[in-house]
Amino acid sequence: MKNSSAVNKRKATPIEIEKEAFRKIGYQLIDTIANFMDSITEYPVTKGESPLQLQVLLGNSGMPENGLSADEIISRSTDLLLNHSLFNGHPKFMGYITSSPAPIGILADMLSASVNQNVGAQLLSPMATEIEKQTIGWLAEFIGVSPRYGGILVSGGNMANFTAFLAARTAKASPELKDDGLTKTNSNLMVYCSKSTHTWVEKAAILFGHGSKSVRWIPTDSENKMDNEVLSKTIKEDLKLGYQPFMVIGTAGDVSTGVVDNLKKIASICKQNNLWFHIDGAYGAPAAILPELKNLFDGLGDADSIALDPHKWLYAPLEAGCTLVKNPQHLINTYSSHPEYYNFSKNEEGKSLNFYEYGLQNSRGFRGLKVWMALQQIGSNGYKKMIAEDIELSKLLFDLADEHLELEAITQNLSITTFRYIPSQNLPENIEKKEIYLNTLNEALLDTLQQDGKVFLSNAVVQGKYCLRSCIVNFRTSEQDIKEIIEIVINEGTIIHQKLTTNK
Ligand SMILES: *Cc1c(COP(=O)(O)O)cnc(C)c1O
Repeated sequence: MKNSSAVNKRKATPIEIEKEAFRKIGYQLIDTIANFMDSITEYPVTKGESPLQLQVLLGNSGMPENGLSADEIISRSTDLLLNHSLFNGHPKFMGYITSSPAPIGILADMLSASVNQNVGAQLLSPMATEIEKQTIGWLAEFIGVSPRYGGILVSGGNMANFTAFLAARTAKASPELKDDGLTKTNSNLMVYCSKSTHTWVEKAAILFGHGSKSVRWIPTDSENKMDNEVLSKTIKEDLKLGYQPFMVIGTAGDVSTGVVDNLKKIASICKQNNLWFHIDGAYGAPAAILPELKNLFDGLGDADSIALDPHKWLYAPLEAGCTLVKNPQHLINTYSSHPEYYNFSKNEEGKSLNFYEYGLQNSRGFRGLKVWMALQQIGSNGYKKMIAEDIELSKLLFDLADEHLELEAITQNLSITTFRYIPSQNLPENIEKKEIYLNTLNEALLDTLQQDGKVFLSNAVVQGKYCLRSCIVNFRTSEQDIKEIIEIVINEGTIIHQKLTTNK
């Protein structure tokens, strides 16, 4: 039988899209996406539509009994998404920590879905496994830690931190724990972190059976860094009381104001007490590539494990997180098991690299491709430039807010700036009442800004002050955008202040 006739006689199924049709729909989609990216500044950041409005648009018909044409489905989906989404790729999006997606990542995801590799096992994903391994090596190189670090790509920062948390526990808890569990081994394991650590810690403590009381929230000092004296003291006291400290978490770029803990000092406290040192660098770690920030990140390479998020400051499209572990064997000790129906352990050159043995997932998508491609397209110099620019723009916002009579600049770290609107007239005289009013006003201002689509900011509460918060992980944001944001905030602020004061 000739090859061509074999191809032509492919079985007819409701799922296949015939080659010419696939090309046509595919090219159209690419055209639409290219136009969308090119004209993104003409879109509002969001239309602020309510869930109810969107449900009406979507309609409430049941699932189709007979299939529709792929062409129609793609046009309608594109229309729904391009006209009714909140665009984190917009130059004036700077809320939370969500980046504009690298265009090459969009193509990478399409290629990745086409080969549909299961990167849980090397046997099933020979090249993809090697690419992910290389990506992990590059990420370690990127943040400037030893090439000994190995690890795994995961869905994001939470999963990256969870993955490290369990590895820390396996490494430091009694060896019986894996079989006997927390109760039977009388485990009183304790975790230490600053009070500004991301909520994942509490989730991990609950998920893995330690309970939220096993987290010691250490206060922060005047610079908002973990107070390492209190940390030392708390560990000592806990040891006296019979607790088992096992892990300290340092943060490299806290989610609220971007502060980096004194990592070197935490590393030495961990060493003294034989504790696992984990760094949550989900947001900030990539900034360690900047030579001018070398001191700020001193101690990064002392960590037993590091979490970082390529879908934040490396601009990968969601989702991509990464756990790096200084001695990756700790991951295998934690996650590897060999059921009889798996025949994945060997290849011709010896032991194979199966990522299912390095983390919580079994079947794994090929999320490494988009990170790997972006790292090559941009290069370390390209990243240095873009990360430094994000920081510069954040400083510019801080400076402009500082100069403005009706704005108070509050914090600036990495690419996060917090500030608030303070109208010059019609404020309560009483200081306490004034502060309460300013919190109400800025909260109302943020709610409006998040709905009206001109700029997207989020919030932070700094020493009791409700602030507007901008986090720039956005290669599209320009100086002009920053200047315009100041105007938008002042204009909206004035209107809301008027409303609030005349309503009284
Ligand atoms: C974003 C972030 C997380 C959570 O990461 P996800 O990717 O949202 O799961 C955890 N820690 C820090 C410091 C973060 O910035």
